[in-house]
Amino acid sequence: MSNQSALPRIVILGAGLGGTIAAFEIMEAVQGKAHVSVISDSERFSFLLSNPWVAIGWRTSDAVQVKLSPVFEKQKIAFTTPSGKRLHSAENRVKLNDGQSVAYDYLVIATGSDLAFDEITGLGLDGGYTVSVCKTAHAEDTAKAFESFCKDPGPIIVGAAPGASCFGPVYEFVMILDTELRRREIRDRVPITLVTPEPYVGRLGLDGVGDTKSVLESELRERHIKWTTNAKTTSVEPNMLHADEIGPDGAVCKTHDVPFKYAMMLPAFRGIPAIFGIEGLTSPRGFVLVDEYQRSKTFPNIFALGVCVAIPPTGPTPVPVGVPKTCFMIESMATAIAHNLESLVNG
Ligand SMILES: Cc1cc2nc3c(=O)[nH]c(=O)nc-3n(C[C@H](O)[C@H](O)[C@H](O)COP(=O)(O)OP(=O)(O)OC[C@H]3O[C@@H](n4cnc5c(N)ncnc54)[C@H](O)[C@@H]3O)c2cc1C
Repeated sequence: MSNQSALPRIVILGAGLGGTIAAFEIMEAVQGKAHVSVISDSERFSFLLSNPWVAIGWRTSDAVQVKLSPVFEKQKIAFTTPSGKRLHSAENRVKLNDGQSVAYDYLVIATGSDLAFDEITGLGLDGGYTVSVCKTAHAEDTAKAFESFCKDPGPIIVGAAPGASCFGPVYEFVMILDTELRRREIRDRVPITLVTPEPYVGRLGLDGVGDTKSVLESELRERHIKWTTNAKTTSVEPNMLHADEIGPDGAVCKTHDVPFKYAMMLPAFRGIPAIFGIEGLTSPRGFVLVDEYQRSKTFPNIFALGVCVAIPPTGPTPVPVGVPKTCFMIESMATAIAHNLESLVNG
């Protein structure tokens, strides 16, 4: 048996999609030559890709969550839940919210994003007027709001804030809402508008994927869903969303006041507070700057994967939009990090 205290310590911060996959792949890659541990802010893993389904009652939140400790225990991966309060990258330690610190030889950051609802007045569940599917707990609240809405329906807005990068759930949510409203036979009482900062429908943060522009436009038309593109949402008040439409020259070419009784708006993302503003580690928006090995450009013993990684936009757009970090991309990042750590622990 290996002497645990002499082994290099690999710590993974965050146990979402990227962090859990990375933990399993790293454990397998290092073959007992490193101690692997995970720090999470939650006892449970949330498969947040299913949140839109939770938000209209097609799934319960229990069905999309798994208790992590038994799973990690089986894989001999250490697991701790006081969340990371602050990374001290120059001292190779993560300070936890209970005051303790976890020291590491190698750190893998997989903390996803902080949701920037506060950047637009009236956006979000916390003191705002729009619902969210970003977290499973949000989706549970959104499902309750949807049930009340269906008793007295009216206009719906689904969309994304300026600077948003994750457009897949926007299109998914607007389509499943349409389907559910038809099933409930109230669709004719619900005008739906998609409000997006994308310059065209189906750009998806990537300048389109194949023929997504025409496919999604046609699908929205068939479902009688209207849309506003180049929309810079400026504020939301009860039952009304205000947005400027930005022209190619960057000037406001039209203003929109869109009424709603129920609105789901994806916010822009930024880095989480525990890593935000660490010089050399993160971009001005708080995302981790990595090289082609998924390794920090400043701290060679720090790797990062998933939504917390800085990726520049694919090109200029009248309203800023980010690049999505999708599952396939995240899995590839996890595999790359596992192989790189394998090489490092093997000298
Ligand atoms: C609603 C929704 C649907 C999506 N659907 C798809 C899809 O269908 N297909 C696709 O390819 N992509 C999809 N994505 C995009 C992407 O695949 C997911 O966002 C994915 O979960 C990102 O994984 P991640 O590990 O980077 O971040 P997350 O899964 O968000 O994981 C980050 C984890 O870190 C934890 N954490 C944060 N701060 C701390 C801290 N201080 N200490 C400890 N832990 C912390 C968080 O609680 C979380 O558990 C979707 C995204 C959303 C929001």
